Amino acid sequence: MAGIDTMVVHGGREDLTALGVHAPPLDRSTTYPLRSLESGTADLERLAHGEAAPVDSPVYARLFNPTVARWEQGIAALEHADAAVAFGSGMAAITATLIAAGAIGRHVVAIRPLYGGTDHLLSTGLLATRTTWASPQGVADAIEDDTALVVVETPANPTLDLVDLAAVVRQAGDVPVLVDNTFATPILQQPLRHGASWVVHSATKALSGHGDVIAGVVATSQTRAAALRQVRVVTGALLDPQAAYLLHRSLPTLALRVRAAQDNAVELAKRLQGRCGVLAVRHPSLPDCDPLGLVDRQMSGPGSLLTVEVEGGAEAAGRVLQAVRLFTSAVSLGSTDSLIEHPAGLTHRVVDAAALADSGIRPGLLRLSIGVEDVDDLWRDLDQAIGAATGSGPSVG
Ligand SMILES: *Cc1c(COP(=O)(O)O)cnc(C)c1O
Repeated sequence: MAGIDTMVVHGGREDLTALGVHAPPLDRSTTYPLRSLESGTADLERLAHGEAAPVDSPVYARLFNPTVARWEQGIAALEHADAAVAFGSGMAAITATLIAAGAIGRHVVAIRPLYGGTDHLLSTGLLATRTTWASPQGVADAIEDDTALVVVETPANPTLDLVDLAAVVRQAGDVPVLVDNTFATPILQQPLRHGASWVVHSATKALSGHGDVIAGVVATSQTRAAALRQVRVVTGALLDPQAAYLLHRSLPTLALRVRAAQDNAVELAKRLQGRCGVLAVRHPSLPDCDPLGLVDRQMSGPGSLLTVEVEGGAEAAGRVLQAVRLFTSAVSLGSTDSLIEHPAGLTHRVVDAAALADSGIRPGLLRLSIGVEDVDDLWRDLDQAIGAATGSGPSVG
C-alpha cells in the first residue's frame, strides 16, 4: 500500500486518465440521460439498494454523483476502509450512521466528552435512542442486550482526552463502535485499524482546511456503506458536488497542513505552560495529557488543537477573545488560519451543566485550533492577549 503522503495526492483520481483529464471534473447534473429504459431501471435498482456505483448512468443526482464518489474513494483509502459515504455536514453523517446502525429506538453507550451537537442528539433522544454515558473503562458494564452502538471521540472535544480505542472495542464485544475522528484526521489516526466499525468526520474541519465548505463523511465496510447510501438516498442528506470538488482540491495538501499546524501547536503548548495568567494547558504532546502513551501507540502525532485555561474564569476568557488580532475569535477548527473559542459559552453550550463540569469544561477554558502561520507571530498574539486579559502583562520569556 502507498504511503499516506502519496495517497492524499493520488486518492480518488484513478479514472482521470481514461477520462482524458488531469484534475477531477465537477459534474453538477441533477439528471442523466439513460441508454435504455432497461439500463436505467437496473441502475436505479442498484443505487437504491446501496451499491457503490451505477453501470451505465447515475439516473438522478440524489442516487449518485461522480465528483462526490471520487472524493469518497480518496477518504476511504486514507482510513483503510472499503468505502466512504459523504453527507451534507458532519451532523448529517452522524445522524445517518445512527440510523444505518439500527440505533433508532434502541440503546447507545457513549463516552463523554463528545462534540456538543452529538451530545445534544444523544442526550435529548431526538432519534428515539436511549443513551448510557460511560467512562472509557466502564463501557463493558454499560452494554445491554439492546445496545446498538458505542460512540466515542478521541482526541475528545474540547478536553483533548485520549481514549484507547482497542480497549473500548474489546469491551464493546459484538457491539459496533463509532469513532468521531475529526480532531485526529486520517493522517494521524485510523480507527478502523483499532477495531472500530464506523469512522465519522466533520469534513468541515481539517479535511476541507480552508473554512469554506460544510460536509461530513463516514468510512466503513462495504456492507455498512451500502446501508448508509440507502439512508442517504431516502433522506437526501447529500454532499453538494461543488463542495466535494473543493474537498478533493484540499486533499493533496492535507498531510502537509496537518503536520505544519501540529508543529506550531507543539511549540505553542510548550510556551504557554507556565505563562503567568495561565492555569492549565492541554495538548497531547504534553506528558501529563497522554498517560497511556496513545500518541505513539494509536496516533502518529498529537494534532493541532490545544486548550488553555486562563485565570479569571469566563470574563477573562471573553477578554482574551476580544484582545486577539491574528487569531480569529470563532468556532470551528482545522483551518489554515488559527481560531480561538470558548467551549462553555459556544460549542458545548447545549451540553448539560453537570456534564460540562464532569468533562472538565471550566469557565476559563479556551480551545485553540492552530493554523499554519509563523509560530512566533501566533505566540506574540496569544501572549499579548493573555497578558491584557488576565492583567499579567507581557511574558518575560
Ligand atoms: C464540527 C464537528 C462535528 C459536526 O460537524 P458539522 O460539519 O458542523 O455538522 C462533529 N464532530 C466534531 C468533532 C466536530 O468538530
